[in-house]
Amino acid sequence: MLKINKEKCIGCGLCAAICPEGAKLGEDGKAEVIESEKLQGCGGKTICPYEAIEE
Ligand code: SF4
Repeated sequence: MLKINKEKCIGCGLCAAICPEGAKLGEDGKAEVIESEKLQGCGGKTICPYEAIEE
């Protein structure tokens, strides 16, 4: 189950751009997981250069 570490996320939007069904930017400007399995399918933790996607 993937989740976003909001302390590490800088809101660059890369995860949402790569995987719009898996993640989106929330109202706080940080990423949110829409569907963990989809995000995993797009590369999961490896997507985020800031290591903000965690299991
Ligand atoms: Fe946040 Fe990482 Fe997604 Fe960028 S790629 S919005 S830093 S979780």
